[in-house]
Amino acid sequence: MFKKILIANRGEIALRVIRAAREMGIQSVAVHSTADSDAMHVRMADEAICIGPPSSTESYLSIPAIISACEITGAEAIHPGYGFLSENAGFVQIVEDHGLKFIGPTAEHIRVMGDKITAIETMKKLGVPCVPGSGGGVGSLEDAYRIGDEIGYPVIIKATAGGGGKGMKVAANKGEMKSAFQTARAEGKSNFGNDEVYIEKYLTTPRHIEIQVFGDGKGRAVHLGERDCSLQRRHQKVFEEAPGPAIDAETRARIGKICADAVANIDYAGAGTIEFLYENGEFYFIEMNTRLQVEHPVTEAVFGVDLVREQINVAAGLPMSFQQEDLVVNGHAIEVRINAEKLPNFSPCPGKITQYHAPGGLGVRMDSALYDGYSIPPYYDSLIGKLIVHAPDRPAALARLHRALGELIVDGIDTTTPLFHALLAEDAVQTGEYNIHWLEHWLEENV
Ligand code: ADP
Repeated sequence: MFKKILIANRGEIALRVIRAAREMGIQSVAVHSTADSDAMHVRMADEAICIGPPSSTESYLSIPAIISACEITGAEAIHPGYGFLSENAGFVQIVEDHGLKFIGPTAEHIRVMGDKITAIETMKKLGVPCVPGSGGGVGSLEDAYRIGDEIGYPVIIKATAGGGGKGMKVAANKGEMKSAFQTARAEGKSNFGNDEVYIEKYLTTPRHIEIQVFGDGKGRAVHLGERDCSLQRRHQKVFEEAPGPAIDAETRARIGKICADAVANIDYAGAGTIEFLYENGEFYFIEMNTRLQVEHPVTEAVFGVDLVREQINVAAGLPMSFQQEDLVVNGHAIEVRINAEKLPNFSPCPGKITQYHAPGGLGVRMDSALYDGYSIPPYYDSLIGKLIVHAPDRPAALARLHRALGELIVDGIDTTTPLFHALLAEDAVQTGEYNIHWLEHWLEENV
């Protein structure tokens, strides 16, 4: 086992990894920008090292600075968290070239899944159901029109290098194709340096269902059921739960096995998530994330596992601690994302926290790097906390979420907490009967 690992991240996810490392008797090294000298991950890690100025390109995304930090501190492995360098195949290659271990899949798996077209081609070959679409890249407007006619409108044009909801445009009909096609290409180019796009049928009432998989890198893999992340704003998740209200045990076992077999087949190592749209009882693959997800705690809650410990174990060459038959759903878990954002526009709202109080009690987990007097810097993601509740069933989890939200105090800035109070009063949220478009419509009418 490693003696010391470096965490190439910040905020709540850095704390998440430091906590797992400490329980495993592994020393942790935090890296930080000059804007994060007072951050909680710096305080909590065994060692901390400044790697650059506030701008993430010069700090959390600076590969030379992170590799140097490993060399200076003697860290043997790097946990990337999510975001930043977690899905950067070039980084993984450099890490390995320096004799260090990347806690995650191989550079090759990240490369294949990071390009959405090669990901779809690979998944198709592995027997995973995909959305009807162009299959490959679409280079010209003429081809786009032809594919639109073939699969039928509405369609969605997606940048193959896209992510975070960027580089996706819907064309409701032929008249909208030209502008949607050009905008998706332009967004792909400006955000990801790649203007290649592909086209898919746009599903009008799907749920977002994702399957958590875990592989040992040696041909064994399991699934840890699904998460339903259908409540989204601008294609970004705000509320996630496990198990999915629309998924029964038989469906879970069927799609879970397809996913576990697919990743076992390619000798996938570590945690991964296979994302689907789910409509009329059918699953449609949209992408695979080759890292730990923000919403992983709901899976940890219902299966009683520690996914980060498992990631570290597998990276160190140890076998997985569970087999498929050990993984049984227990109860219901919900996560809400507390962002430093001001409603109604969700504009970023950094600033000083004058008072912070985390909710607690039975079945409540608050993953956050906040503390009294902390100043949230304006340079990074607005996620400041994740409130996760676990209870015997969905109604009890909703009641517990309501109770825990009532205990949460974050004074000094605006947060998305009022959104969740309002959502919990909605019948659709109580019954779980919504699709990926429901929240957008609700926001237009209510916020
Ligand atoms: P990103 O990598 O930017 O997260 P995804 O491909 O995972 O992009 O899609 C993000 C979200 O966009 C999905 O959860 C869904 O809400 C919407 N979306 C993507 N593809 C489709 C589609 N074919 N039809 C309808 N909605 C879609």
